Amino acid sequence: MSATEFPGCIFCKIVSGEIPATIVGESDEAIAMRDISPVGPTHVLVIPRRHVKDATTVGVAEAQLLGELFELANQVAQAEGIAESGFRLVANVGDAAGNTVSHLHLHLIGGRDLAWPPG
Ligand code: AMP
Ligand code: ZN
Repeated sequence: MSATEFPGCIFCKIVSGEIPATIVGESDEAIAMRDISPVGPTHVLVIPRRHVKDATTVGVAEAQLLGELFELANQVAQAEGIAESGFRLVANVGDAAGNTVSHLHLHLIGGRDLAWPPG
């Protein structure tokens, strides 16, 4: 377990290489991986390398990190060919939103028309 790994956190284990994932992009502070259960032709999770619980624990102190998450999401959207057609970036928080993994992640979903409002 690395110094920044949160015990039992599946995404920390992916960052450390303990659990395999399909990595599609990375930067100093962030990685992008394919969602194991995709809801669209493109479904990538963009996550910080270090453990951050969720959006409720993000503030101005994480400005650099948030910039990297969005920059990486944009790079992946370009690489996936969905930057022009459009895509959705989502951060679920809490039970009502269906949040299941307590390690901050942006869902990058695209490659099909997406309904609004979401279900
Ligand atoms: P959320 O419901 O916003 O917490 O999203 C968690 C996402 O993580 C879901 O879309 C899961 O399909 C995805 N997920 C869970 N375990 C893995 C894994 N080992 N590799 C890739 N994606 C995963
Ligand atoms: Zn974690």
